[in-house]
Amino acid sequence: MFHKLRLKLTLINVSVMALLLLFFVVGTFVIMKEQLFNQSQQLMQIMASEAGSSSVSDTREHSKHLTKYFYLKTDALGKITESSSDLPLVIDQLAPLVYEIFHRPNTKGEVDFQDETYSYLKVPLKQSPGFVISFVDLHEEREILGKLLISLTTGGLICLVLAYYASRFMAERAMAPIKKSWQRQQDFVADASHELRTPLTVVQVNLELVKGNPEETVASQSKWLNYSLLETKRMSKLVSDLLFLARADSQQQTLEIKKFSLDRALHGVIESFRPLAVTSGIHLDSSLNSEITFFGDAFRIEQLLVILLDNALKYTPSGGRVTLGLRNWDTYVEITVSDSGEGIEPEHLPKIFERFYRVDKARSQLKEGTGLGLAIADWIIQSHHGRVKVSSCPGKGTTFVISLPHQSKSF
Ligand code: ADP
Repeated sequence: MFHKLRLKLTLINVSVMALLLLFFVVGTFVIMKEQLFNQSQQLMQIMASEAGSSSVSDTREHSKHLTKYFYLKTDALGKITESSSDLPLVIDQLAPLVYEIFHRPNTKGEVDFQDETYSYLKVPLKQSPGFVISFVDLHEEREILGKLLISLTTGGLICLVLAYYASRFMAERAMAPIKKSWQRQQDFVADASHELRTPLTVVQVNLELVKGNPEETVASQSKWLNYSLLETKRMSKLVSDLLFLARADSQQQTLEIKKFSLDRALHGVIESFRPLAVTSGIHLDSSLNSEITFFGDAFRIEQLLVILLDNALKYTPSGGRVTLGLRNWDTYVEITVSDSGEGIEPEHLPKIFERFYRVDKARSQLKEGTGLGLAIADWIIQSHHGRVKVSSCPGKGTTFVISLPHQSKSF
């Protein structure tokens, strides 16, 4: 799939380059041709008028210009009466050429004569009947133009080959983030399917057990039904987390930015965790003394704290301590959630924000969770232009420090 895409991108680039090069080659060639021929035309004009008025007739003066110039004067019958000093052939050999042009209706043009092509200009003589015909041998111009065309075409082809490799390289580079996000998406779908399959199997097995004992009462089978219910809740949480991240990926997850009291919001969240902390035998402390007004999405910031406190309580054994801190600085606020729990090994720390990443799968399996909580937390922090720092000491505890900059209303 990416092979084809790269080829397509490369070919598009090369086609555009080829078109531009073609314009350049044709343009340069046409301009050069026009200039060379105009120059010849002008010199022929000068020569014809000088010869016509019989003032100057030395073509050597013009011979510094790349071409051979000469003129011939005729009488009223087309017979040569006078010529310039430098002639490419003897006068008699030129008679048929003059005769042909003399009888041509147009006063300028090109004529092929003895393997040469001449450009000519026919001007009537002022003093006597007849014409002065000035010639220019176009051989050298044609040679110059031929060489120019070969050079331009060769240069163009070399450029095209280079453009092909450059385009391939650029296409490869441009595709790197696409490849990465495609791979991420593939992994995400695979992980999501895997995570959904487990609770679905549990529900199915439990319901089959219930179905296998139709004579039993609901109360007597409540164990299986409760397992099913628990797994359904887990699935529902998983699906809503997946939906959140899918929306975030497609930029559909938006924030509702408004001014709110951050300390009050955090207070509300911590209070909602108190019953759980009490039943788990964990001390839950908070220092939310200062009043802080903050511009942000209050709901999402509460969700962020729910994720962090939920983890802190989940991974802290009975008798431990979980602390929530809030500090207001000039340009940002700092939320700290620390626990005295099991901690995280240093090698796992950089990965805990990845989707579906759970430090010890076997151990985590015993604790409720989807492995998506911190990925969602990270999105919330990033979308508020904030930063998160995690420090942990295995066996001693973990601390999450979140800095969220104070924003203007415009966000
Ligand atoms: P989960 O639903 O498994 O908690 P998260 O994304 O919230 O998923 O966390 C990812 C992993 O990071 C967890 O499985 C856990 O191993 C580790 N983790 C997160 N918070 C803590 C914490 N406070 N103490 C110890 N480990 C933690």
